[in-house]
Amino acid sequence: MCKIIVMANQKGGVAKTSSTRNLAYSLAEMGQRVLAVDFDPQTNLTISFGIAPATVKESTASLMMKMLMDEALPDKDSYILNIGRVDLIPSKKALTVAEVNMLIERQDDCLDKLLSPLRCDYDYILVDTGPSLGSLTINAFTAADGIMIPFDAELFALVGLKELTDTISKIKQNLNPKVEITGIFFTKCSKRTTLYREISEQVHAAFGHLHIFESRIPATVKVGSANSKGLSVMELDAKNEAAIAYMNLAKEVLEYA
Ligand code: ADP
Ligand code: MG
Repeated sequence: MCKIIVMANQKGGVAKTSSTRNLAYSLAEMGQRVLAVDFDPQTNLTISFGIAPATVKESTASLMMKMLMDEALPDKDSYILNIGRVDLIPSKKALTVAEVNMLIERQDDCLDKLLSPLRCDYDYILVDTGPSLGSLTINAFTAADGIMIPFDAELFALVGLKELTDTISKIKQNLNPKVEITGIFFTKCSKRTTLYREISEQVHAAFGHLHIFESRIPATVKVGSANSKGLSVMELDAKNEAAIAYMNLAKEVLEYA
């Protein structure tokens, strides 16, 4: 059965995009059929797959506009790009235009309508979202089975985490009863183990009812360098500790989600 997992945290820079990129690769390496969806007008996920947004014809931007205007969708092959073992629906800046229209027309289920028919083709559909709780993220939550929350301990945004989980509760009540928070995972972890123990304890105390993944993604420049080369960190350096951590996170996702 296909799982649609949305990577979300309204804070920017917590590694949503890097985690979507590397988890998609890791799950595909483990034999899963994976579709990654760039649902952020900043197009970072698209770029991290080595695709220049200007070169793509169909994207989440054009597809969402077609959904909003009740137009027929083009053939799947025109908007799903095959990049190694991972498939990608890219994004373009014009996704902001679709976002405004979603807001005006109060359309929360455009992404759900796009992804639902694709469920039969994939084991996992991973959706990257931008740093806001606006209409795009609401659409992503409405389409989701699970939400994974990357948490950067250095930024220590417990208040933001509460706003995020409250928003997800409202979505569950009003728009998507099946949605669950798959779990929280720590990203960009430095070797300051005391800091992590303290923060981890505080997250457990405040959000103990949620699943917290064991795998922590260590801080390393290799993640950013892989993104800029259009590669996963495993392809850049399979022995890198972040590469190993993302593979372990993928194993946990397979077991848990
Ligand atoms: P978001 O999508 O949440 O805004 P990104 O994935 O774009 O976050 O990451 C934000 C920045 O942090 C980028 O410059 C990225 O290269 C860097 N980054 C992501 N993961 C790591 C990591 N494990 N170690 C060091 N830097 C990281
Ligand atoms: Mg991002």
